Amino acid sequence: MKTDALHQAPGSGRVYLVGAGPGDPELLTLRAVRLLQQAQVIVYDHLVSSAVLDFVSPTAERIYAGKRRNEHTMRQEQINALLVKLAMEGKQVVRLKGGDPFIFGRGGEELQALAASGIAFEVVPGVTAASGVSSYAGIPLTHRDYAQSCMFVTGHLKDGTADLDWPSLVRPRQTVVIYMGLGGLPEICRQMMQHGAAATLPIAVVQDGSISTQKVVTGTLADMPERVAQAGLKSPCLTIIGEVVKLHDSLAWFQPQLMTRQPLGF
Ligand code: SAH
Repeated sequence: MKTDALHQAPGSGRVYLVGAGPGDPELLTLRAVRLLQQAQVIVYDHLVSSAVLDFVSPTAERIYAGKRRNEHTMRQEQINALLVKLAMEGKQVVRLKGGDPFIFGRGGEELQALAASGIAFEVVPGVTAASGVSSYAGIPLTHRDYAQSCMFVTGHLKDGTADLDWPSLVRPRQTVVIYMGLGGLPEICRQMMQHGAAATLPIAVVQDGSISTQKVVTGTLADMPERVAQAGLKSPCLTIIGEVVKLHDSLAWFQPQLMTRQPLGF
């Protein structure tokens, strides 16, 4: 491996905002692995798998920054302040986030705080859940017969009510991928049907995509909340809605039970 992976001016701290992918460490980028092995400090999130953390240099300081739903270990402002402080001390810091740091990861906010303090940074993209989890579930997000576009939304409901743009979500020949949507699933299915989606529209919910505990539950808008409750799915789960979900039956390839790598660290 290259030893100059950290493009470092002597004495200056820097923050590397790195995507850790959905869980399987094989999906890390080469750049991510290099940085994990050379950073002095790693500030990581709850969605980063323990198998990914195995790549961190044993001499690096590890700081867990949370955040689980409703149980924020560190507030976002505290994380921003921590990154600024570490970099000002001259440290080479990897800020490690599940998936891709620029997709529902608040990575942009962290960079704004660094920029405001004049701190150098670099962004390393990762495999986002939509891409990684759908691949391991055997569900292509687009397909000439079923969907020409794909939309990523967050299903995190503020005060239990979803303020999603429902008419845009129910467009035909489109796949909708919902991040953080497990708690709001019944409301999401109800609203989509109310806004004109067929009750028979296929939907999949994938728990722990790309690791040994992966579970895929498929159904329709009408019966999915009950199926998910019956299956006892737990966070993190990714929801995929659209005709492409039909392809899961013939394209599922990943056999999580044969996976020898370790489970996600939560
Ligand atoms: N930046 C991340 C997303 C953070 S939001 C990315 O690009 O993937 C967290 C949400 O991502 C979870 O609630 C879940 O919806 C989804 N997610 C992340 N990893 C996942 C996994 N391995 N399996 C299923 N869903 C996952």
